[in-house]
Amino acid sequence: MKLKINNRFSTELPADPDKTNITRQVKNACFSYVTPQIPANPKLIHFSEEVAAMLGIANEDAQSSEFTNVFSGKELLPGSRPYSMSYAGHQFGNWAGQLGDGRAIILAEVEQKEQFYTLQLKGAGMTPYSRRADGLAVLRSSIREHLCSEAMYHLGVPTTRSLSLISTGDEVLRDVMYDGNPAYEKGAVVCRVAPSFIRFGNFELFSSQKDLKTLKMLADFTIKYHFPQIKGNTSANYVQLLQAVADETRELILHWQRVGFVHGVMNTDNMSILGLTIDYGPYGWLEDYNPNWTPNTTDRENRRYRFGNQAEIGLWNLYHLANALYPLIGEAAPLESILEQYQMKYQEAYLNMMRHKLGLITLKEEDNQLIHILTENLQLTETDMTIFFRKLSEIKKSASVEEAFELIKESFYRIEEVVDKTEAAWMYWFTQYLDKLQQESLSDADRKAAMDKVNPKYVLRNYMSQLAIEAAEKEDYSLIEELHLLLKNPYQDQNEYQKWFAKRPDWAREKIGSSMLSCSS
Ligand code: AMP
Ligand code: MG
Repeated sequence: MKLKINNRFSTELPADPDKTNITRQVKNACFSYVTPQIPANPKLIHFSEEVAAMLGIANEDAQSSEFTNVFSGKELLPGSRPYSMSYAGHQFGNWAGQLGDGRAIILAEVEQKEQFYTLQLKGAGMTPYSRRADGLAVLRSSIREHLCSEAMYHLGVPTTRSLSLISTGDEVLRDVMYDGNPAYEKGAVVCRVAPSFIRFGNFELFSSQKDLKTLKMLADFTIKYHFPQIKGNTSANYVQLLQAVADETRELILHWQRVGFVHGVMNTDNMSILGLTIDYGPYGWLEDYNPNWTPNTTDRENRRYRFGNQAEIGLWNLYHLANALYPLIGEAAPLESILEQYQMKYQEAYLNMMRHKLGLITLKEEDNQLIHILTENLQLTETDMTIFFRKLSEIKKSASVEEAFELIKESFYRIEEVVDKTEAAWMYWFTQYLDKLQQESLSDADRKAAMDKVNPKYVLRNYMSQLAIEAAEKEDYSLIEELHLLLKNPYQDQNEYQKWFAKRPDWAREKIGSSMLSCSS
């Protein structure tokens, strides 16, 4: 296995001079050198052939012991000098101070076909940023991260990727329910891959430390390598940087809303500067369409990170990034204007995205109303978001409202609860919708094809991961492979996998892991 290491972040930005691996406050440094913990007995559970190919790793090499050793932290890649990044953040609306990679260790940046990829192990042991925790990750959360990163990529959602899932052979103590009943679980390490793991929180750290020198170096580095379209050498560059990050963040959240993904922990330390989905923790997929839903048990009361609030939180986070960049700019007006526009642009883009989900091509004023009523109707009775939109594309222009309604009934969780009022609301909506379709020039087949490209048929519902996790705990990894394969083609009908185009089963409704999740990972 030959990888071309070319470390840009760790060679161009200031390192922490202290090499001791103990929890501490780090100043004036973008990262600390740290060596991964040696796992007891690493075993490769799964790897993504595509990510391996992207990095220039042949399939045979991915099955070698060298691969397992390197991507579990047992052996260092020749010439690599691993490190953890320093960053701060706002967590659940409050300033949290220094956080940093508490259990993530970057092995190297590698260059392949003129692209740069940062390889990062998650769960490879303590770092100076581990605070009171152990630096490890459990198998269940690692399976969820590995599967979901790849599923998101294939859905067309910007995301960090996952190269490999390796069990460490170590036991990890976790109190899943936070009820004073900790238990040992299997440990694992995932190798995440992204062009960069810089977060909003990296900028917040230096700004809070009033370390403008490092703040500027980090911002210049980010522009140079990740936003090369920003030219020049004035403070206007940092305004443009905020603009670019706001654009990427808006696009990212639109994708989440399109596919029904709820991140669950949109703290500023979990916001990628590149607009990637990052840090798969207690995330989830909407099953019944409910804008108030969040998978995260820690957020059960305030529901700060609920589905319907993600765009708003994106803005809140951008506001804190703007604050962090402000000392490099010295005037607030251009930053404020970007934040004001974010909301307007989001609203417009959201309506367009929903239009696409509905198969509407020609833009009409009344579409807004149609979309508004639809989202109200989807909440009248528990209605599966994924199944609803997928069935909707089967409707023919010539259908009667009754026929249309009949088709989408499959998406109702409790058909017996569908009372006259609900039915009447749908009849009203379908009257408008069918009327709209008749005004469109697309044929039924072309509309279906277009809709099926934006409305996935298969998503990684929490209960599906949970089944894969329960099997993996008994060392049966076949479901991981099956779900990985299924989710490579989320928009295509796959007859052999029809069972995964189904509503969440009743047993999974309230079960931890299958509906809601704790942050314990
Ligand atoms: P998260 O909410 O998972 O993004 O984590 C917030 C912060 O806690 C980050 O700085 C993580 O690196 C750190 N962290 C989470 N879990 C652990 C762990 N098991 N050991 C050390 N640090 C952790
Ligand atoms: Mg995090």
